[in-house]
Amino acid sequence: MNISGELLIGRQAVRGGAGTIHAIDAATGATLEPAFGGATPEQLDQACALAWQAFDTYRETAPERRADFLEAIAANILALGDVLIERCVSESGLLRARIEGERGRTVGQLRLFAGMLRQGDFLELRVDPAQPERKPLPRPDLRLRHIPLGPVAVFGASNFPLAFSVAGGDTASALAAGCPVIVKAHPAHPGTSGLVGRAIKQAVRELDLPEGTFSLLFDAGLAVGQGLVADRRIKAVGFTGSRAGGMALMAIAAARPEPIPVFAEMSSINPVLLFPHALAHRAAAIGEAFAGSLTLGAGQFCTNPGLVLAVAGEGLDRFLESAAASLARIGAQCMLTPGILRAYCNGVGTLAQHPRVQAVARGQAGNDMQGQAALFCTDADAFLADAALRHEVFGASSLVVRCRDLAEMRRVVESLDGQLTAALHLDAGDHDAARTLLPSLERLAGRILVNGFGTGVEVGHAMVHGGPWPATSDGRTTSVGSLAIARFVRPVSYQDMPADLLPPSLRPDSRQRHTWRLDGKLQSQAD
Ligand code: NAP
Repeated sequence: MNISGELLIGRQAVRGGAGTIHAIDAATGATLEPAFGGATPEQLDQACALAWQAFDTYRETAPERRADFLEAIAANILALGDVLIERCVSESGLLRARIEGERGRTVGQLRLFAGMLRQGDFLELRVDPAQPERKPLPRPDLRLRHIPLGPVAVFGASNFPLAFSVAGGDTASALAAGCPVIVKAHPAHPGTSGLVGRAIKQAVRELDLPEGTFSLLFDAGLAVGQGLVADRRIKAVGFTGSRAGGMALMAIAAARPEPIPVFAEMSSINPVLLFPHALAHRAAAIGEAFAGSLTLGAGQFCTNPGLVLAVAGEGLDRFLESAAASLARIGAQCMLTPGILRAYCNGVGTLAQHPRVQAVARGQAGNDMQGQAALFCTDADAFLADAALRHEVFGASSLVVRCRDLAEMRRVVESLDGQLTAALHLDAGDHDAARTLLPSLERLAGRILVNGFGTGVEVGHAMVHGGPWPATSDGRTTSVGSLAIARFVRPVSYQDMPADLLPPSLRPDSRQRHTWRLDGKLQSQAD
């Protein structure tokens, strides 16, 4: 399949008329063809109009048909074969094995939502039957289902060109919920976006869905993204990127006459807590594993371990020695974009010059497209005194904070902003200490994990990839896993509605086919 550089507006593939963007080969800095045209205000308006027209039809498609649609998207992505993998490797600078793995995850995510749609329980149907004889007042008949919010704007992420981009988790969950989607492609990987966009467009055609179910726009500046969030026909936003970008979009959404939710995943430093018994028994092994997690994908993961907390002592010293020795063996890696590399170098430079921060180790130096890993150390007093030390440095950089004791470690935990993950390294002798910290950690993070690192996010039903601000704009939800669908639906209750006016899933004769919560009790389909 050729990469055409065209916008996908419903059924049409059209040249964008507002400026151009080119992808850059992340490893060499060379410009990649073709040029991609940014959408004009008229083209943006057309995509929104089509999405709005599609909404009422698409949202009432049977869940099984939407499941077929998601599976068709997955099949069409796989059918792109090497063309997709090679373009994605060039545009991102990520290793081929990583991109192949990410494609597997993307396809797996689409299939997970398809499975959920077939099961049907995501609708969370509730029925409180009428009680006409109830005293002193009769109870009305109440039936509840969840309906989709409306067209959703999705911003592709730079660091996951497949799994958090055009057909990534935000798109998959919104389409599963019954929301048409307009994607604003990330400018770092327009070719990858165009290919995946066409795989979705083809699936729209195969399933004979309304043409506005999906559109893909490019933006040569900020106007398209901002215009999308401001458009009255867009009812929710999914975003993964910088805190500044997420906050700017939240401000636009909040200032609309009808404010809408923005589900933004922004910044997280993912504290790693090393407990004394674990350090006493296996400091060197933890140090080596930590270096591996820190440098995975050049550290360009939102779950990258950017902060390590431990009580000062011989165990922590051995951890640092081991992590430093491992880092010294790790080569520099290509970063996603020159801008992200620049931001990384600035962040590392600021830490290196901080009067109360010491450099522990650097990875191997590379060329001017590559990031060199960095490990720093400070003490808890310095960390608590300077909020700038809590900022994310996106890339393979981490700061170790030496604490006097566990009470000081707790004070450091309490000083942190919301996080996607908190990782605990502990042995049986550490359980009491860990237990006292758990209430703080639950308030802090969306996911708490033991004897591992947050990098590598399982896509499943019990996963939370979220957390309090600024990890995300809304810590009540997740952007990974099947619960992500909850972001794009809202409950509607039908009171005393005649059966023939009710949605089919709530009609009395559908009780055997759907899982209902009847008078508060969950019924299986066999009941
Ligand atoms: P970004 O600058 O936030 O951009 C993400 C997307 O949002 C892009 O499509 C961008 O469009 C758009 N955007 C950003 N600000 C906008 C605004 N004010 N109005 C309208 N659209 C806006 O993120 P990035 O390009 O992926 O990387 C930059 C930095 O973000 C990194 O250095 C890192 O610090 C952070 N980041 C964090 C995570 C995480 O998961 N925590 C992931 C990725 C990046 P344009 O690019 O066209 O402007």
